[in-house]
Amino acid sequence: MSTIILDGKATSKKIKEELRDKVMVLKGKGVEPTLAVVIVGDDPASHVYVRSKKRACEFIGIRSLSYELPEDTSEEDLLGIVCELNDRDDVNGILVQLPLPKHISDDKVIMAINPVKDVDGFHPVSVGNLSIGNKGFISCTPYGIIELLKRYEVPIEGKNCVIVGRSNIVGKPISILLLRENGTVTICHSRTKDLKGVCKNADIIIAAIGRAKMITDEYVKEGAVVIDVGINRLEDGTLCGDVDYEKVKDLTSYITPVPGGVGPMTIAMLMSNVVSSVS
Ligand code: NDP
Repeated sequence: MSTIILDGKATSKKIKEELRDKVMVLKGKGVEPTLAVVIVGDDPASHVYVRSKKRACEFIGIRSLSYELPEDTSEEDLLGIVCELNDRDDVNGILVQLPLPKHISDDKVIMAINPVKDVDGFHPVSVGNLSIGNKGFISCTPYGIIELLKRYEVPIEGKNCVIVGRSNIVGKPISILLLRENGTVTICHSRTKDLKGVCKNADIIIAAIGRAKMITDEYVKEGAVVIDVGINRLEDGTLCGDVDYEKVKDLTSYITPVPGGVGPMTIAMLMSNVVSSVS
C-alpha cells in the first residue's frame, strides 16, 4: 500500500501565501486586518504558540497587537481588556491564548469576546452556528483538518469516521465538520468499550487524545486515513503524536506526521479566520 503523507507544513504555507495576496488587495482598499493577541503568564508552550501566530501575521501582512500580561492579572482586568478590544473598530479578531492561570475562568473570558471577533471559534455562539450549519468562525484545529483533507481530495462522504477524543476544541467540532461532509461519525472517549475494534472499522481515524503513540497498528485497518492531532513531548524532548507513526504509516492510505501535520494547519486557519473577519 502506498501511503500519501498529508503535508500540513507545505499546505499551510500555500494557504498563507493565498491569504497574503488577499490581504494585499484588502490593504489596497484601505482595509488592514488586525488581530489582538492576549497572553497571561509565562507558560513557555503558550509563548511559543503566540510567537508563531505573530510570525504568521507578519508573513501575511495582518497587523497584530500584543498584550502580554503578568501571571497575577486579575480576571476583572482581563475582562476589561477584552471589552476594550470588542469596542475597538480597528480590531477584527481577538485571541486569548489558553490555558489561562487557574484564578481566571477560561469560560468567562471566552464568553466575553464578541462573537464577530471570535477568530478562535470557541464562543458558544460560534459553536452553535457550526452545529446548525450557519456561517460563523470554525475553531482552527478542526477547520485545519478538514481543509487538509479537502486539499488532498480525500473522500469523506459515506466514510466511516472515528474520532478518538471529545474535547470542545477538537473532538466535538471535528465530528460536526465530518458530518457536514457527509461522513458517518463515531466519537470515542475514555469510557468507550472496545476502542480497538471501533477504530479497526474506520475509514478515517482522527486521534485527539493527548497520549503519546497510543494508536498502533492494532487500531488501524489497511487503507485507512489517519489524522494525528496529538502533540506530546517525550522524555528525550522530541515531539510525537497520539499515533505510533512508524507502526501505522505503511498500513494507511493517507497520514499526517507530527510535527508538520495538523499543527501548522491550525495556525493557517486562524489566519484565514482573521482575514475572513474583514472580507
Ligand atoms: P483533552 O485532554 O481535552 O481531551 C482528550 C480526549 O481524549 C478526551 O475526550 C478523553 O476522554 C480522551 N481520552 C483520553 N484517554 C483516552 C483513552 N485511553 N482512550 C480513549 N479516549 C481517551 O485534549 P484536546 O482535545 O485538547 O487535545 C488532544 C491532543 O491534541 C493533545 O495532545 C493536544 O496537545 C493536541 N492538540 C493539538 C492541536 C494542534 O494544533 N495540533 C490543537 C489542540 C490540541 P474523556 O472525555 O472520557 O476524558
